Amino acid sequence: MRLPRVDRVAARPELDEARARLGPRGVVSIVRQIVQEERDRLLAGGVGAPTEDAIVDRVRAAAARVLGGRARRVINATGVVVHTNLGRAPLGPRAVRAVSEAAAGYASLEVDLATGRRGGRGAFLEHALQVLTGAEDALAVNNCAGAILLALAATARGRPVVVSRGELVEIGGGFRVPEIMAESGAVLVEIGTTNKTRLADYERALDAHPGAAVLRVHPSNFVQLGFVERPELEALGRLARERGVALIEDLGGGALVDFRGAGIVGEPTVADSIAAGVSVVTFSGDKALGGAQAGIAAGTADIVKRMRKHPLARALRLGRLPQAALEATLASYLEGQASEEVPALVLTHTSAEGVRARAERWAVSLAERGVAATAVWTEAEMGGGALPGQRLRSAAVRLEPAVRAEELAARLRGAVPAVLGRIVDGAVLLDARTVLEGEDDLMLDAVASILAPRR
Ligand SMILES: *Cc1c(COP(=O)(O)O)cnc(C)c1O
Repeated sequence: MRLPRVDRVAARPELDEARARLGPRGVVSIVRQIVQEERDRLLAGGVGAPTEDAIVDRVRAAAARVLGGRARRVINATGVVVHTNLGRAPLGPRAVRAVSEAAAGYASLEVDLATGRRGGRGAFLEHALQVLTGAEDALAVNNCAGAILLALAATARGRPVVVSRGELVEIGGGFRVPEIMAESGAVLVEIGTTNKTRLADYERALDAHPGAAVLRVHPSNFVQLGFVERPELEALGRLARERGVALIEDLGGGALVDFRGAGIVGEPTVADSIAAGVSVVTFSGDKALGGAQAGIAAGTADIVKRMRKHPLARALRLGRLPQAALEATLASYLEGQASEEVPALVLTHTSAEGVRARAERWAVSLAERGVAATAVWTEAEMGGGALPGQRLRSAAVRLEPAVRAEELAARLRGAVPAVLGRIVDGAVLLDARTVLEGEDDLMLDAVASILAPRR
């Protein structure tokens, strides 16, 4: 039985739009793949060669999937501020300008403009991070997973590293502490139990392995309750100092400011870790810090220097665009402007009453367009593995459509820009804490275009 010809299918007028957006070769590649699948099916004993029309339909669907796989703008009404699946922290106008300038032109990345000679990359980052964390030196790489890999490789390759069994965790996206340790060449020494690890466990392990490093991991995406124990960071810091060994902490979230002002208690800051005696702490640039994707290591001059010189440092180098965004974000912190300029901080620190008033304005505006919606109190969260289990008082509009909530949520995701809410008790909630300033009308228009009665 004959299969439709690839060139004939690819030239069909139904595929004009796909051809315009993916190019002729892009369409031919999809047709070829689908025809090949049919050929394999027939060779394996399948029956009935598909018609050309059937192939065209499948090509159109496949092309739509490819085009839909491009990242596009989303209005985040989920109530999760640092949303891992939505690109984590949004950047403020100042960081966006810095990225745009760095992207469009040349930049003094590795030249000292005072002397005209080759200069070190990241002098401003180092300085800002020293000031903001109290560390002797600091380095930024591509992400926090890279920072911890580099910290372990530079300090503990081929050497024992002591870790509590309660901290051998998976952070997400397949990042598992034992596996990253193995990749770094460090030798894992497990101590304690899942729920309880005492200072004495660390002491015994260091007796048995003198010169081992100690790794502490922040359990960012889960909480243990009940019969649990682990030593205070200060106690570990003292022990590491007494024994002259390195204490490495993977903090993940990495707040540079105290979040108590937002009603979030107990989230450690990077400065707390340094003050507690951590030798090197690693954290993300786009979680609680609110900057670009980056992994930051702040610590002693000796360790950071070793990390900088390690061959992996080049492989994990921070790109110039995230570097520009991170520098601008840290400048906001240095100048004391972070709570106005860094969106992750602005969104978390807005008062619950302010968020509620916004949700009520949305409800009124939707009602004027014939869309039934009510303002309700909700709980939002920081997200991004940062500050787990901590709720932010928030408010939302609750949409009351005739259709099922799942179906409405899907239609909102299909809007331009896409609107992402969450489903609670069979209704779609659009949380007012996480929608960025200036996005209100865009979001309400999108909702009305889907739900307003036709006139
Ligand atoms: C999020 C997180 C990481 C990974 O950070 P990335 O920047 O995504 O690489 C590592 N460790 C901890 C404790 C985290 O919370």
